[in-house]
Amino acid sequence: MLVIEDEEASRRAIAQGLLEAGCNVVEAADGVAGLELAVSGAVDVVLLDLRLPRLDGEHLLEKLRRTSAVPVLVVSAKRDEDDRIEALNLGADDYLVKPFTIRELLARMRAVLRRVEGEVTTTLRIGDVTIDFASRTVALADARVPLTALEFDVLACLARRRGRLVSREAIDAAIHPRQAMLGPEGGTDGHEAVSNVVDVIVLRLRKKLGHELIQTRRGQGFIIDG
Ligand code: CA
Repeated sequence: MLVIEDEEASRRAIAQGLLEAGCNVVEAADGVAGLELAVSGAVDVVLLDLRLPRLDGEHLLEKLRRTSAVPVLVVSAKRDEDDRIEALNLGADDYLVKPFTIRELLARMRAVLRRVEGEVTTTLRIGDVTIDFASRTVALADARVPLTALEFDVLACLARRRGRLVSREAIDAAIHPRQAMLGPEGGTDGHEAVSNVVDVIVLRLRKKLGHELIQTRRGQGFIIDG
């Protein structure tokens, strides 16, 4: 989930709650940065505060909807009812009224994702590989293959965009919060270039799931063929 919120304390609290619930979280503190991440194709759902510096939520949404159908949950204060209606008109999928609990946010997020993707996307089969997004498990020819959280996130990021080329930057944005948790298996101290981290994870995925699954497009990124 991409959290676009300028108030740092509340953005951090939301991000922390989502991380604890097992979600991937990317944060943006203003509308311009938020829009950039939202159109990158690297996030599954956007939480959008309406009152933002640089580019307000309504304008962000208007621009976003020209190129992207990513689900958007709008956050507004109770007094801003007109803003909320305007946001729904501009293509928001649902809204939350401040203050809200993480539980409430998760419930809304899941409802929106279900509506958008349908139940079928809970599991995805690509050749011999079966990905279960709900339980975050992967099987190869029906045998469970243990993946690290980071490996699963990279695989999920590519699988959800099956048939589409995904840049290293987009993958990195999707896994960003977990970068620091790479640990010894990742072979990086966290200062290594972004693209190296993604490449390392892709290599590990190929070793575990077969070399054909993820294709490299030199200089552009990766793709799982549909
Ligand atoms: Ca705000």
